[in-house]
Amino acid sequence: MDVHTLKQQSVRYRKLILRMIKQAKAGHTGGSLSCIDILNVLYNHTMKITPENFTSSDRDHYIQSKGHAVEALYAVLVDQGFFPEAELETLNQFQSHFVGHPTRKVNGVEHNTGALGHGLSVSVGIALGLKHKGQAHRVFTLLGDGELAEGSSWEALMSASHYRLDNLVIIIDRNSLQITGATEEVMSLEPLALRLAAFGCAVHECDGNQIEALVHTFDKVPFEIGKPNVLIAHTTKGSGISFMENTVKWHHKVPTDAEYELALAELNHAEATL
Ligand SMILES: [Mg+2]
Repeated sequence: MDVHTLKQQSVRYRKLILRMIKQAKAGHTGGSLSCIDILNVLYNHTMKITPENFTSSDRDHYIQSKGHAVEALYAVLVDQGFFPEAELETLNQFQSHFVGHPTRKVNGVEHNTGALGHGLSVSVGIALGLKHKGQAHRVFTLLGDGELAEGSSWEALMSASHYRLDNLVIIIDRNSLQITGATEEVMSLEPLALRLAAFGCAVHECDGNQIEALVHTFDKVPFEIGKPNVLIAHTTKGSGISFMENTVKWHHKVPTDAEYELALAELNHAEATL
């Protein structure tokens, strides 16, 4: 998929995320909008995961450790054909498999996530298994930056470098906000790149809401033979909607009718000027 088409996809996904959250009357708006360009490039450019190969082991793997941004995952999975779009209308309804965090009851979801700090450990295990089997597939995992306050993430990083897992690609959605405020005020992470490098990772950084930058950076994987890959993707929470951007309250907020219309108008304008 070319860069222009990927950009069009990102706008479409943002519309779908907002529609899901509006209809379900709940959802993680800011975090889904911050990571959607990453998921777009992963599923439409980088990873080899399709509805056809999903039940086989002959494919890449994706685990969304920041499970609360599930609306971004649903938007990409439905577009890939993992399930019909009508199923999204059941989001958050009684007995629906489409709940506010990923579960394996939804086709295309690799692992249940949402309890933060677990996805990376699971990804390390899968990547290690692939190495043992001599399979060349890769494991991609998306972490929130607030999630790095979970000590288990750093234990997993130690294991990843110990086992030289250069088939593991860790993406940190570095929007610099978490549920209660700025990461640097709640539990500071900086100097993040240096800390990750000290744990034995090969670290790259890029604008995580810029399609060309993401394509370019993912094309460089593996960053360094024998080291786990880490991409610090600098993003904006609420990216794409001016009044949601960099605003803590949009972590988990449903747009009003007026806000929804305003957001759609911004996305329509973005689409028309691509
Ligand atoms: Mg964050």
